[in-house]
Amino acid sequence: MRGLSRPGLAGGIPIPDAEVQLFVKEEQADAATALLAAADARAHLEWVCPACHERNPASFETCWKCQHDLAGA
Ligand SMILES: [Zn+2]
Repeated sequence: MRGLSRPGLAGGIPIPDAEVQLFVKEEQADAATALLAAADARAHLEWVCPACHERNPASFETCWKCQHDLAGA
């Protein structure tokens, strides 16, 4: 989630203060909800390491377990 930095924000600030509120017009509420759901789904994507078959969060470019580089570099 580029630009939001929610994990970093939550790290130093009490959680209730780190919560983001988004206000949209009533007629745009359904579209906004769909966008947020899509972004949330992307944030929870995982990939399986081809070397050790461990599951890694989509935000990881290197396997946390065996350090296999997903980019193959
Ligand atoms: Zn691995």
